[in-house]
Formats: sequence, C-alpha cells, structure tokens
Amino acid sequence: MASKDFTVAIVGGGMCGLVCAYALAKAGVAVEVFEAAPEFGEVGAGVGLGPNAVRALDRLGVLSAVLARSEHTSPILRPFIFVSGYDAQEVIYDYPVGEEDRGLPIHRAAFLNAIIGISDMKIAHVNKRCIAIEHSSTSEPGSTLLFSDGTSHRAHLIIGADGIKSTIRQYVVDALAGSAETSDNNSNNNKHNLAFSGTSAYRGLLPNSTVVAAGVKIDLTVQPVSFCGMDRHIITFPIQAGRIINVVAFSTITRGDSAGGSLDELPHPWVQPVAKQELIETFQAGGWGAESDAIKLLNCMEKPSRWSIHTVEPPLSSYVDAERGIALVGDAAHGMLPHLGAGVGQGFEDVVVLTELLTHPETNSSNLPHVLKAYDSVRQPRANMVLEGSARTGRIMERYGKSGYSNEEMRTQLAGMWGPVWHHDLTEDISKAVATLKENRVFKQAESS
Ligand SMILES: Cc1cc2nc3c(=O)[nH]c(=O)nc-3n(C[C@H](O)[C@H](O)[C@H](O)COP(=O)(O)OP(=O)(O)OC[C@H]3O[C@@H](n4cnc5c(N)ncnc54)[C@H](O)[C@@H]3O)c2cc1C
Repeated sequence: MASKDFTVAIVGGGMCGLVCAYALAKAGVAVEVFEAAPEFGEVGAGVGLGPNAVRALDRLGVLSAVLARSEHTSPILRPFIFVSGYDAQEVIYDYPVGEEDRGLPIHRAAFLNAIIGISDMKIAHVNKRCIAIEHSSTSEPGSTLLFSDGTSHRAHLIIGADGIKSTIRQYVVDALAGSAETSDNNSNNNKHNLAFSGTSAYRGLLPNSTVVAAGVKIDLTVQPVSFCGMDRHIITFPIQAGRIINVVAFSTITRGDSAGGSLDELPHPWVQPVAKQELIETFQAGGWGAESDAIKLLNCMEKPSRWSIHTVEPPLSSYVDAERGIALVGDAAHGMLPHLGAGVGQGFEDVVVLTELLTHPETNSSNLPHVLKAYDSVRQPRANMVLEGSARTGRIMERYGKSGYSNEEMRTQLAGMWGPVWHHDLTEDISKAVATLKENRVFKQAESS
C-alpha cells in the first residue's frame, strides 16, 4: 500500500528525474516517470559530480550503486589547474582542495544504468513526450499530463524534470505571471525563460596517446585543466584512468559581436557538426598560438560538434506552482552555464530537499501546496546563486590576457569560487523548511531530530 494519499508524476527521465523517482518509490510514494525518448539514455560523455553532489547521492541512497558503475571505488580529489591558453603553458592557479572536497567523475550513461539497476522500472515509461498539462476545472484534485501519443496521466503532483528545454517550466512561469494557461495552445514553449547564453561548446573525446603524439606537453591525465584566454577557454578532464581526455572548448560572443551572431535569437539546431578549421580559427582569432598546447589539442578533434549553450534566463523567481501542484527540479528549474560543473549537483540537491519534504510524516494531499512552497523557499535562492556563480566563473576564465586579468588577478578572482557550491548543509535547509511549516501551523508534529 502506498505510504501517502497523493500520487506523483515525473516528466523527464534524465539523471534528476530517475533519481527522484527512485527516492519516492523507495519511500512508498505512488510515483510514475515519463520520458520522451524511446529509451533511457544520456547525451554527452562524462559529468563531474562535486562533493555536494556526492553527499546528495549518498543521502538519496544511490551512491554505492553509482560508485559501482564508476571507475573509482570511492570519491576522489581532483583539483582544477588553470593554465594560459596562449603560447607558454604558464600555470596561473592550482586550485587548493582539502580532504572533504572529494567528487566523482562519471560517464552519464553509467550513472543512468546505476539508477536503472536499483529501480523498479515498472513505474518508468518511455516514448511519452508530455505536451501539456490540463488543470481540472472541477474540485477533483490534481492535474492531467497530456502526451504526444494521445494518452494522458493524472496525478496530484507533477514534477518537471524535463531539462533545459522543459515543457513544464512554462506552466510555472505562466502561474508566476498570473496568466496560467491550461491548454496546449501555447506554441511558444521554448521561449519561457530560456535564452542562448552566447557561449558555444565544442566537445570531443580524445585518446591520450593521440594528444601526446600531437605534441601536447602538459599532462592531461592527472587532473582537470582549464586553458584560459579572452572570450574563450578549454576544459579537459581525464576519463577511463587517463586513457581518454574529455575536451570541451568554449567560445563566447557578446551582444553586438557581429561575427558571432545574435544573442536575441536561439541558434538552431542547438547541436551541429562543424569543420575542425572553424574550431581552430575561433581560438587562433583570440591570439592562441599555433604551437600552444591548446591549439595542438584542438587539432586532434577530428569531428567536432558545436553545442549552443542555453540557460534559464532570466532565472525563475520560483520553482513551483504550489496551488496547481507543480514543482521543477534540475535544469528545468535552473539550467545554467557549465563553468562550475555544478548543474546536475544542484538538481540532486533539489531532489534531496523535495523528496525528504514529500515523504515527511506530516505531508499529505491537503498540505502539498505549503510543502511545495517550503521546498521553493530553500532551493530557489541557493540554486539561483549557483547559476549566477557559474556565469561569473565563465567570465573570469574568459578574461585572461593582455587586455584582461593578470595571473595575480585571476588567482584573486578564482580563489574560493567553488567553496559555497561544495560546502552546503542540506540538513539545515530541510530543517529550515520544516520549521517554516511548523511556524505556519502546517506541520504539528515536533521534530525529533
Ligand atoms: C557542456 C556541458 C558540460 C556539463 N558538465 C557538467 C558537469 O561537469 N557537472 C555537472 O553537475 N553538470 C554539468 N553539466 C550540466 C548537466 O549536464 C545538467 O545539469 C544535467 O544533465 C541536468 O539533468 P536533468 O535531469 O535536469 O535534465 P536532462 O539531463 O536534460 O534530462 C531531461 C530529460 O527529460 C526528457 N524530456 C524533455 N522534455 C520532455 C517532455 N516534454 N516529456 C517527457 N520527457 C521529456 C529528456 O529526454 C531527458 O531525458 C554540463 C552541461 C553541459 C552542456
């Protein structure tokens, strides 16, 4: 028998959606997850999980399953080293880390397989693209998800875990604007608080042997490296015990940069194969020398693709429509630039707070709106802070050079940047949310811990 008198439907079976479904199902909540794709899978290669993300996974009870699918038996220390992208591979800053700063690099597909391996997949449905939410006009509680195959599903609570291109976000945004629409006649889904960031990412996976043969001198197998410049930077991190180097090269245009296109229009398609020459020219135009490690590295990328990075912009002032029973988690709520490596970690923090509040003994169908507001009150300020920090970190890494920051200024700017992301107490957040619920007489029970 279900532990709660309400039902939950999760839209999106990515990293956040599947973990959320697992946590709720484990607590006996009646939950179903609906994924648009024909199978559960992740685009892209590795993802770096920071110490806070690792702690969140531990709290959700999935860390050991995830570790079992990773290359590591326990979380590891992997400090970033920042180097010049110009000719001399000068070290700008070796980011200091402590024992408690252990994170985990993992292949995205391996992560999903870990969660699938411990989940009851009878509650997970593929080929279910949600196209709209229909709110009941009767007194019957809950809302109905409408899918592109003509089917529907009703639940008391809808969790939008449908990523940066979220369909569910529009309902929260509309509610915030006081003009919630209840039909599928809104043809403008993707324009709801979604913008091209001006940053393009060229991604590739390179055998380290190829990188070494190309004459790259810096050892990329030891730790993540950030090559910095003006309006451009490259991140590398080793995977498969250093046999493969994951490379993401970023280039950013600013408003009015005629060469780069317009920030007002969303580039289509979002992911596009490009000629290697485009990539090389983009970085050489920024003064990166042909003999630099960075350009030699880019020369190894035989079939680069360009990703137009989109973010939730402007940031949402709330992640919930409490009255209609909708909550957002992950990129649907706060899709951010990847420069702090914190996007999915913030999603896992959402999932911890939301699932612990939903499974609290005092939570039931009648106080769900209050519980959603309590979730929002702790998650929205924190995740939006990280979203803004991610943009700021990108601006620092891309202001290095003669007309930008010196080495000393870079060190000052980057010092402690990851501290607030990595060191955060979710127990305190949850206690704060519960205390608010008690103050407002929504929860009666005294907290035992
Ligand atoms: C270049 C790059 C590097 C990054 N590196 C890092 C990193 O190192 N560390 C980190 O923490 N984060 C990183 N991120 C961010 C991270 O990838 C995201 O934060 C994370 O994938 C978000 O997970 P999610 O589950 O919210 O969304 P997604 O992973 O996007 O999953 C959403 C799911 O919803 C499904 N869906 C979408 N619409 C619908 C619909 N209408 N109906 C049903 N299903 C739907 C999709 O098919 C998908 O499966 C990076 C991002 C980029 C672009």
